[in-house]
Order: sequence, then structure tokens, then C-alpha cells
Amino acid sequence: MSDAMSERDGLAPFRDLLGESGVLTSPDMTERYTRDHRDLMLGETPAVLRPRGVDEVQALVGLAREGRFGLVPQGGNTGYVGGATPEPGRRQLVVSLERMTRIRAVDPLNFTLACDAGTILSDAQKAAEAAGLFLPLSLGSEGSCRLGGNLGTNAGGLQVLRYGMARDLVLGLEVVLPDGTLFSDMRTLRKNNIGYDLKQLFIGAEGTLGIITGVVLKLWPAQTQRATAWLELGAEAPIPEMAATVRRETSDLASTFELISASSLGLVAEMRGGGTGLNSGPGGAVLLELTASSERIPLDDLLMGCLEPLMEKGWVTDAVLAQSEAQRRAMWAVRETIPEGEKHAGGSVKHDIAVPISQLTAFLAGGAALLAERLPEVRLSVYGHVGDGNLHYNLVVPEGRDRLEFTRAIEAGFAHDLYALAADLGGSFSAEYGIGRFKRDLLVRYSDPARLTLIGTLKRSLDPQDVMNAGAML
Ligand SMILES: Cc1cc2nc3c(=O)[nH]c(=O)nc-3n(C[C@H](O)[C@H](O)[C@H](O)COP(=O)(O)OP(=O)(O)OC[C@H]3O[C@@H](n4cnc5c(N)ncnc54)[C@H](O)[C@@H]3O)c2cc1C
Repeated sequence: MSDAMSERDGLAPFRDLLGESGVLTSPDMTERYTRDHRDLMLGETPAVLRPRGVDEVQALVGLAREGRFGLVPQGGNTGYVGGATPEPGRRQLVVSLERMTRIRAVDPLNFTLACDAGTILSDAQKAAEAAGLFLPLSLGSEGSCRLGGNLGTNAGGLQVLRYGMARDLVLGLEVVLPDGTLFSDMRTLRKNNIGYDLKQLFIGAEGTLGIITGVVLKLWPAQTQRATAWLELGAEAPIPEMAATVRRETSDLASTFELISASSLGLVAEMRGGGTGLNSGPGGAVLLELTASSERIPLDDLLMGCLEPLMEKGWVTDAVLAQSEAQRRAMWAVRETIPEGEKHAGGSVKHDIAVPISQLTAFLAGGAALLAERLPEVRLSVYGHVGDGNLHYNLVVPEGRDRLEFTRAIEAGFAHDLYALAADLGGSFSAEYGIGRFKRDLLVRYSDPARLTLIGTLKRSLDPQDVMNAGAML
């Protein structure tokens, strides 16, 4: 890069700060940061900045303000709503935390883990494991998503039923604010009543209020026992009642209760060019897992015990209990490859719905009726962490239809009816993926005026120049 060019593009101060390898500008290098994970949006950025530490993040925020650049924080770029994609025309620099991956401390007596926010989720899990501890945050993208992104989106995942969402796992946070100030609250305290719980403001904020640089996470004792079962469901299996029975009968030791519809299982089978070795009943299937940290708990007995009433009532017609770790992994692999199965079939339009658990049956019936009436030819893929009321209600792109055109058509029509159905049942149009750039209109449509006013007030008072992720969420 010549000095003259560097001066022209306004990036010279960033190169001085971060070095050549810390400022990527050539399109072949920046494309993977500017294309969203679902390939629905190709963004545009003058440069991708790759700081190595908190002080560099603070300094680059100051430079961005001086140079009138916007900033888009980015972790693993696995988000589903375009929140980490710089918008064309906005002159936004991507701030990738991929070089900030330090595990700062694991404390087995406090049951805490302190990390840089660029740490890949699976590396954080491994650091906990190495100390005989357990980090319950777990998602299909855990090999590439990063903690800053998990917190930015308040990620959910596979074990929310028992441990809660990302925000429930955070004890401390470190954030560089839009004016470059460092808000550092990396304490490992469980009790700390000192006014507003400020860290929660930045969790789920999708990078619009600051750049998270560090986090202290809660850990649990390592899970040394697992009992896993694949349940085939009868036609009328009521999911809320089943989940409640499981919780009661296992003394709340279920960490996973995943619904997998027959059509989602079919997509995985097609992708694999045959079967999956697992079957679904007319009501689909459930992947159920109980976990415990003590060998003294008779987990297998508890599992068998909770299945008895489910089978007696005909809600579960058959069950396969995992007899080995390999069999357990095989069951999980089926669940985790549903998104790939959808991709293999031509892609899908995703609806990330949540309703109160008690309303799941009503939602499933209402959704099926809507689909039969409006889009009878479209193939459905429904699965999700229904133990916590979350469903992925996805429509597979029909053969021969253009994916983007189909997506637009669904989002302009059917999706609204589905979201209205969820809203009528007290639910949400975005359970765990957030708002990003793809659901901005929905936030306006389904939020009461007081919520929107409060969001605007917070954003304006913390970031009056709109430096942080302008265009995301708002
Ligand atoms: C196969 C697959 C499975 C998935 N399963 C789940 C699931 O079960 N549950 C779930 O919730 N999501 C799931 N997701 C979605 C996605 O992985 C999550 O949203 C994840 O938390 C995003 O992390 P990331 O590091 O990739 O964030 P990115 O995509 O990079 O960013 C997401 C948002 O967070 C902001 N952000 C990123 N880093 C920071 C930071 N340091 N400070 C402040 N803001 C920041 C970005 O600006 C953006 O708005 C899945 C995705 C895939 C591909």
C-alpha cells in the first residue's frame, strides 16, 4: 500500500496502530467478513480491522470517530440476521476480534472462566473441561462462533432448558464504549447489588452500544454422566405436557429436549443418500438428554422412569436409548445437521419463533393450518429447542425456485401471518437469532411504542454519533 493511497482512503492511522496485518483491504481478503453466513447479503467495507488487545480496540474507536467511519463488531460471522455485515454506503469498518482469543483465567473454586471476547466458543468449552468444569453454552456453530458474538446476540442453543441463555451465564463484562471509554466489570461475583446491572445492557445489543472485549462466564461441575434417548412420537403427542412430565420425573435433570419433525429427519436422510438409522413417529421425534455431575445419581433409571408415563399415554411410540458414546454422538449428529440438510435441499426460509411452552401445541396446529391454506406445496422443516419454547419453523425452497426471490416472497407474506400467530399466543418473532439487518422492520411492527422509545433513548445517549453498528437492529 503506497503512502499516498493510504492517506486517500483515510486508513493510514489504523495501519500505524494495528500494522499491515491488522488492516485488511483487498476484496479477496475482506469478502469472508462482508458476506453474511446465509449468503443473503453482500456488505461493503473500506477495511477489516483486527486488533490484538483491548487498548487497540479503544484506540481504533477514537480513530474511527475522528475519521467519521462507522464500526461493525464481528465474531465468527455465523449470525443469521446480517447483524455483523457492514452495510453498503455506510463507510463501516469491520472490527474482527479473531486475534483476541486469550483464556484469561479459569477458577475451579469460583466456577468461573474469564476470556477475551474473540475466543471461539468451543475453545472456551475446552478450557472449562480441562479444569474439570463445564460451560453449558452450546450451539451448532460452536466451532466458529466467538464469545463476543454469542453475547452480542444473547445466544441460546441446546441447553437453555436447564442453564438459560447466554445472558444468564455472564458474571462480568468488559466493553469499549462508543466514545472509546473502557467499561470494565470483570468481577466474578455472584451477588453484587450496586444499582443498574449495566453489563446486561450490552448483551443482546448486537454491537450497537459498544464492543465487548472480555467476559467472565459461570461454569458448572463437569457432567460425568449422560443418559440420552431418541423418542418416536405418536400423532397427538402434546409437547408441553411431555416436557413438563420429563422435568418433574427427572427432578429437572434434562438439559436437552429437542423436537425434530419427520420432514427435518427426512432432509438429513436425503443429504446422506439414505437413512439416518433413526426413525420418527407421526408426531416427529424428540432427542432427550439428562446429565449429572455425580455418579451416584441413577440417571438411566430416571430416564426409563420418565419414559413410562409417556409411553403409557401413547405420546411416545418407541424409544432408542443410546448404549454408547458413539450412538449418542450419532443421535446428536442428526440433530445438528438439519441446517445442512436444508441447505442441501436448496436452502430454507428461516423463522426463529418462540411461544410460551404451554402454547406450543396451539402454535404447531395454527402454523400447519396456515401452511395448508397458503402454501400447500411447500415442504416444512420444523425443529428446535422446544423444551424452552423455541421452534425453527423453516420453509424449504421448492425445486426450481430462486432462493432469494422465494425468501422475499415468504418474508413479505406468509412470515407475517406466522409471526402474528406467535404474537397472538404471547410469543416472539425472534427467539434467539436477534434483529440484525434482516428483522428491523419486524422490531418496529411488533414492539410497543414505549420499547422503541427506550431503545432509541439508550442508543442516542450512549452513541450520539451512531458509530457502533449503525443500521443493525434500529
Ligand atoms: C449451524 C448454526 C447453528 C446455530 N445455532 C444457534 C443456536 O442454537 N442458538 C443461537 O442462538 N444461535 C445459533 N446460531 C446463530 C449464530 O451462531 C449465533 O448467533 C452466534 O451467537 C453468533 O456468534 P458469532 O461470533 O458468529 O457472531 P457474529 O455473527 O460475528 O455477530 C453477531 C452479532 O453480534 C455482534 N458482535 C459480534 N462480536 C461482538 C463483540 N465483540 N461485541 C459486541 N457485539 C458483537 C455483531 O455485530 C452482530 O450484530 C447458529 C448458527 C449456525 C451457522
